Amino acid sequence: MAKEGHKYIFVLGGVMSGVGKGVVTSSIGLLLQQKGYPVNLVKVDPYLNVDAGTMNPTEHGEVFVLRSGLETDQDMGNYERFLGRDLTNEDYMTSGMVYQSVIARERSLGYHGKFVEAIPHVRDEIIDRMEAAASYNGSRVSVIEIGGTIGDFQNALFIEAARVMKMKHPEDVLFVIVSYLPVPGTIGEMKTKPTQTAVRDLNSYGVQPDFLVARSTHALDDKRKEKLAIWCNIRKEHVISAPDIESIYEAPLNFEKDKLGDAILDALHLPEKRRASLAVWKKFVKSATNKKALEVNIAIVGKYFDTGDFVLADAYLSVIEAIKFSAAKLNRHALITWVNSKDLEKGGAKAVAMLAKYHGIIVPGGFGESGIEGKIKAIQFAREKKIPYFGLCYGMQLMVIEYARNVLKLKNAHTTEIQKNSEDPVVDVMLEQKKHLADNKYGGTMRLGSYPAYLKKGTMARAAYKKELVEERHRHRYEINSKYVKPLEEAGLVFSGTSPDGVLMEIAELPRSVHPFMLGTQFHPEFQARPLAPHPLFTEFLRAAISRKRKK
Ligand code: GLN
Repeated sequence: MAKEGHKYIFVLGGVMSGVGKGVVTSSIGLLLQQKGYPVNLVKVDPYLNVDAGTMNPTEHGEVFVLRSGLETDQDMGNYERFLGRDLTNEDYMTSGMVYQSVIARERSLGYHGKFVEAIPHVRDEIIDRMEAAASYNGSRVSVIEIGGTIGDFQNALFIEAARVMKMKHPEDVLFVIVSYLPVPGTIGEMKTKPTQTAVRDLNSYGVQPDFLVARSTHALDDKRKEKLAIWCNIRKEHVISAPDIESIYEAPLNFEKDKLGDAILDALHLPEKRRASLAVWKKFVKSATNKKALEVNIAIVGKYFDTGDFVLADAYLSVIEAIKFSAAKLNRHALITWVNSKDLEKGGAKAVAMLAKYHGIIVPGGFGESGIEGKIKAIQFAREKKIPYFGLCYGMQLMVIEYARNVLKLKNAHTTEIQKNSEDPVVDVMLEQKKHLADNKYGGTMRLGSYPAYLKKGTMARAAYKKELVEERHRHRYEINSKYVKPLEEAGLVFSGTSPDGVLMEIAELPRSVHPFMLGTQFHPEFQARPLAPHPLFTEFLRAAISRKRKK
């Protein structure tokens, strides 16, 4: 059901992908929220996957897990980080999800014997979902980012749904096109033509954009603003310049300077409830971009680096952001180096010894066999040389395997993810996962989303969080095998966080008397790190890294 007077802002991309629609969406969300309007941000992904869970991170980037457990696009992580709050299932939509509902309804005679067609049925399912998102969490404005670029086959039905929304609620719907203006080296001049063409393409869908965000390496000059306004039929004050910036978190500050938030409220006939207060945000950005901040060198030992620099950063996006937030809090600049775990395998002890130059080492989440012996080597080195170590999910499981192999002397300790009939399955498949794997049911079947954990008194984890009960987001099929908990503990490992019934090991650590920071989590703390609320475990890890730097 449509919510009376609810406002919708659609964000669409022109010319090419990857120019920052997500940042524009997040920034508009933050500005409106700051001006007193509760906002929800929606990501529409046109692909046929039902969710992002089955996609390879080297191709698609990180899979971001919502509190509910839904596996979504990494943009959802940016949305949560900008808004500083959790989003819900209603805020994410793929073509696969939409078609799945339509087909299920057809199979149960929900269309009462009619033909079921893309228009109106699929389109209306999309509209229903957008309206459901609007009513779900008490928001006043929905900012909806339609993935892909104008002119794609895949997203056309979503644009059509948006057009119909505008027709139904002419006063309540706005369109923002985020476009790219190239400055070709040979010409040395910013060109507006591709953007004009993109707007004309959008017009052919029956949609006229109200705002144009002009992304480019340079700022728009007045002449081009005017030209775009006339050719694209958009008020000049609604043509917003968005040159490249150092940090995505600067974007809302720049947009506020250009009065984008006010112009949007005006266009939606909403009075400003209060001046946007961005002082705290500004302070964070200042600290995050402070060139004079002392450096702390962190190595991320992973494997999703195979397709070059661009993808690599994306595969671990939330981890990188979590490091940045804690570093900013500690007034440091974290210099992150990617270490391919396969190189550690090939390079032997010499390659591993190179890790000594870092102040902290992280092994992030992962799946499968490739590169894991290299990761285990890195973990052993971190433990023996007392380099601060932080293991996330797989990084925790491998930390426990390393401990079992080298301290408990269970030479063949392993995870059954890699070695089905392991002699010492220190990490084993969770009971309820066995059936999913046997049936090849991979989509949305892991242990996903938020679960509580109890923290043991006197541990580093408890000291970092400063509380007894925490909730963190998960994404795994394997767990620490309970049979090995006692021997591991007797050998000095501390399970400082467990599920409330004590069955699942959620955090493993070494006492501070033995190692400055050696801690792994079965969950993914990075998903809950926010610019203005850095994650306590990342902050403690960085504190330990900084003090290693001082000692060196
Ligand atoms: N592969 C491991 C598991 O399924 C770890 C998963 C992860 O790191 N997200 O349990």
